[in-house]
Amino acid sequence: MSRVPGPLICVVLVLAVFPLIPGLPVFWITQMNYVGLYSLVVLGLVLLTGVGGMTSFGQSAFVGLGAYSTAWLATAMGMSPWLGLPVGLVLTFVVAYGLGAITLRLSGHYLPLCTLAWCLALYYLYGNLDFLGRYDGIAGIPALELFGWSLAPGERMYYLIWLILLLALWGSHNLLHSRSGRAIRALRKGVMAESFGVDLARYKVIVFVYAALLGSVSGWLYAHMQRAVSPSPFGLGYGIEYLFMAVVGGVGSVWGAVVGVGAILTLKDQLQNVLPSLVGQSVNVELLVFGVLMVLVLQYARDGIWPVLEKVYRRLRGSGRVQGITVAPSEPTAGGYDLSRRTPPEAGAVVLSVDRIRKEFGGLVAVNDISFKLSAGEIVGLIGPNGAGKSTTFDLISGVTPLTGGEVHFMGRRINGSAPHRIAQLGIARTFQHVQLLPDMTALENVALGAHLRSRAGVVAAALHAERQSEAALLREAASQLRRVGLGDCLGELAGNLPLGRQRILEIARALACDPILLLLDEPAAGLRYKEKQDLARVLDQLRSEGMSLLLVEHDMDFVMNLTDHLVVMDFGTKIAEGAPADVQHDPAVLEAYLGGLDDEDAMPGLDPSVARGSA
Ligand code: ADP
Ligand code: MG
Repeated sequence: MSRVPGPLICVVLVLAVFPLIPGLPVFWITQMNYVGLYSLVVLGLVLLTGVGGMTSFGQSAFVGLGAYSTAWLATAMGMSPWLGLPVGLVLTFVVAYGLGAITLRLSGHYLPLCTLAWCLALYYLYGNLDFLGRYDGIAGIPALELFGWSLAPGERMYYLIWLILLLALWGSHNLLHSRSGRAIRALRKGVMAESFGVDLARYKVIVFVYAALLGSVSGWLYAHMQRAVSPSPFGLGYGIEYLFMAVVGGVGSVWGAVVGVGAILTLKDQLQNVLPSLVGQSVNVELLVFGVLMVLVLQYARDGIWPVLEKVYRRLRGSGRVQGITVAPSEPTAGGYDLSRRTPPEAGAVVLSVDRIRKEFGGLVAVNDISFKLSAGEIVGLIGPNGAGKSTTFDLISGVTPLTGGEVHFMGRRINGSAPHRIAQLGIARTFQHVQLLPDMTALENVALGAHLRSRAGVVAAALHAERQSEAALLREAASQLRRVGLGDCLGELAGNLPLGRQRILEIARALACDPILLLLDEPAAGLRYKEKQDLARVLDQLRSEGMSLLLVEHDMDFVMNLTDHLVVMDFGTKIAEGAPADVQHDPAVLEAYLGGLDDEDAMPGLDPSVARGSA
């Protein structure tokens, strides 16, 4: 059970008594209502842009969908304003889903450009449809009523707006700290996320629709607060302003949304008061000042205001360390829910069969018709000088790079051509030569991402925090995998704060959380100290004895020779030798590749990559 933090209780109390302050000018209530309305939209952007990495200038268009739906239904159709909300949400869902499915595949600057385009399109649509009142909009929208009690006065609307905003903040916070949230936070690391079964396209659409729905709710509230709508608040200018607010507030936390909106609206108001007396009424320098501020923020406080506030708060409290997550004990609780496990294949059964796989990058043949097999309970080493094509071979097996030719079979099934998340589902997990962790997440959360496919908890359950049991089971599994690889002491540590060697081990724990049949390890011992390597070798040996199959790329020859059952040696994309480690060690072709043909009696003495050809 999560504890409600003290500062949050204070915030809620202050919000609750705010309108009751005697003599409070109406202006402040109105201003707070706008902060609430804008924060809903900006909260969506924090998830979409800040967390998911998809920049949108077009959120104002969705606010418009929510506002116009309810405005039209309440005026032209005489329907209850409360029905306007679900209808607006359904309409927004359909439009956002359609737009998302089409545009979210675009990468780089094409996506933001696309959001500009549909924001403009919807704006002109609102302004040109007769039944929406063209550019004059719709007036005479009724106020909301609750059991005959009108919410027309600003301070009553205030409570509704802030109640909805607090619920949205709670839901979004829950979502970010759930199975789906970890997937969304991993969207920026595309290949890594896919390798652990995250369906990128699906999660992109999910965050996009979620952000759009928040905008739509804001539009519904706006229409019944303002009692009139016209196209201008749903145009591109507002779309850009929302994004600006998200950046200023800080896109790393849901509270950044409220802080950003509060800061910008207050500043804007003050500028409107102060600037005319400084430069005269006729010149509109407000935009200029805003532009300068934007540049300053991007230059000096890229992460926005929220992280700065958080740091100050932590300093005042006297704790410098980022607070991690507390974990349930590793022992399954009585009656607790536990993750299912795969039945391992019979000892000796062929697990992976790679048949003449080939990869060409333009004119370069990175992998040249390589074939080998791997059986259950076996560690196969894939070695070769830098640039030999080992990592590319991993990419081909795990499906992140399409083959130019050949076939890969896993557990008797052809897997080449399948999407990486499908291959992960079958039981192949991997680590990366260049560590791919989410540095701002704790070690525990990073490993829990590895277990993504072992739970089915969805987005709605996550937002409502109704998936406690399965979430607890995921975290318990993550904790036990961390202990298994010897990282039991850093569950709550941010992954980015760990030394590189431990980050590599953390990647192994994440792969194990997938409950794999086959583990692909790309240079797991690089950067480890002697003692750490020995510990790692023990862990891998233990995994093998439990029936796991491992394919290991490693440059430390002592490590490889002591651990592997079988070696495949590659050079320039081609397999030059294969066999028992002791035999391969003396193979002339291997000596040639590694040492340029030195006829050293002792053969391959603890080779390191700097000796290997191609690393120069
Ligand atoms: P290894 O892991 O054995 O050091 P890699 O598989 O990383 O080698 O690379 C094999 C060859 O393929 C190298 O020459 C590398 O430059 C090339 N290569 C790898 N990935 C790409 C890519 N995406 N585009 C073009 N060339 C690539
Ligand atoms: Mg490599």
